[in-house]
Amino acid sequence: MKTVEIHKPSTWVKYKPELCKGCFAGCCTLPVLVTAEELFHLGFLKFDEVTGPLKRHAERLKKKKIIQSYNSRTHLFTLYQHPNQDCVFLTKDRLCSVYENRPSICRTFPKNSKRPGFCPHQTLGKGTEK
Ligand code: SF4
Ligand code: SF4
Repeated sequence: MKTVEIHKPSTWVKYKPELCKGCFAGCCTLPVLVTAEELFHLGFLKFDEVTGPLKRHAERLKKKKIIQSYNSRTHLFTLYQHPNQDCVFLTKDRLCSVYENRPSICRTFPKNSKRPGFCPHQTLGKGTEK
């Protein structure tokens, strides 16, 4: 059987919702781009901060390890990833700790993935290639 490699979409498997249960959640180790509005819904920006200059807030959120970068051209933030590339909101049980307010890029995955309709599914505990 072919080994799934998270950064090689050609090795990904065809997505089916039932695959998510008991999955290692490789999708939550890919970079996640979010808007200021989404950071507001996650509770990391105040309402009036969303419309003002974002660079200063980006520096604060970087220090807090909520984001790892901010692109002033696109006005998009990249969520912080731990050294093993796990999303800042991924729990030890490989679940999303902010599921109700998760960003839209997470809600639409894998329709919007590098290989639409496919994802880096791997059974929890099996280990992954990165
Ligand atoms: S990698 Fe695929 S199967 Fe696993 S949690 Fe993400 S979307 Fe679900
Ligand atoms: S916000 Fe939640 S669903 Fe999105 S990548 Fe992080 S842990 Fe996964």
